[in-house]
Amino acid sequence: MQRILILGGTAEARQLAQKLADRDDVAVTLSLAGRTATPAPQGVPVRVGGFGGSKGLAQYLASERVNVLIDATHPYAASMSDHAARAVELIDVRLMALRRAPWVAQQGDRWTEVADAQQAVQALGEAPRHVFLALGRQELAPFRQAPQHHYLIRSVDPVTPPLAVPQATYITARGPFEEADELVLLKQHEIDVIVCKNSGGDASYGKIAAARMLAREVIMIARPKLPDFPSVDTIDEVLHWLDHAVAS
Ligand code: NAP
Repeated sequence: MQRILILGGTAEARQLAQKLADRDDVAVTLSLAGRTATPAPQGVPVRVGGFGGSKGLAQYLASERVNVLIDATHPYAASMSDHAARAVELIDVRLMALRRAPWVAQQGDRWTEVADAQQAVQALGEAPRHVFLALGRQELAPFRQAPQHHYLIRSVDPVTPPLAVPQATYITARGPFEEADELVLLKQHEIDVIVCKNSGGDASYGKIAAARMLAREVIMIARPKLPDFPSVDTIDEVLHWLDHAVAS
């Protein structure tokens, strides 16, 4: 029996959990940070909240007799991935990351690549613009420094307190977001620039394709540096690894 902990918070983590849920040779728990008030059903038992760093995670793995850790967190959740890498140095647990490949700019894309949200604020420039901030609620604060812009802010849960800027429109919605709907959204709000992260995957690609169609700029915040441990791009590759490398 493999006792598996999936570090989640992504559609892929949920889909992987659902694929493993009915197997009787594995016992799966999925871990969420607790960022969203009403997370989507995950299909397996869920635990919520931080572990208290890498040592706390190692203690959890030991106490729950976990022997396989799958880091299926978002590619920008660098601290959690770092803690996973350090935890398995303390305890004998197999570790694999399920990580989406980044999007690659195509012909017609107008991407400005920046290192972080602070640089994204600078890249917006001085002149007022209509900005779609496709970022998490916790990442909005730097945009207070540029109150001249009109912001469209979309998040799963309401932004409380709201961003301290005079012009902001809020939408609460949960992806996936289709290209056709994103096209309507960009036109409706007269968006001329999107600020986002290179999340990869299909669920949030609609806005990138829509921006290309409308020749809108995308300010793309670069991926953080992640720890160097084995990683695969697809759920099928994780399942193959579980059945061959781990089981043997
Ligand atoms: P982070 O900066 O890497 O993590 C901050 C702390 O949150 C970690 O040190 C850990 O606390 C806790 N944590 C993170 N993921 C966890 C998980 N799956 N289970 C239990 N604790 C977790 O992460 P983040 O960027 O804030 O992301 C938080 C969650 O949202 C992740 O699960 C991620 O997959 C999801 N998410 C993130 C983004 C994004 O753009 N960052 C986008 C979509 C979804 P302790 O040190 O106390 O263990």
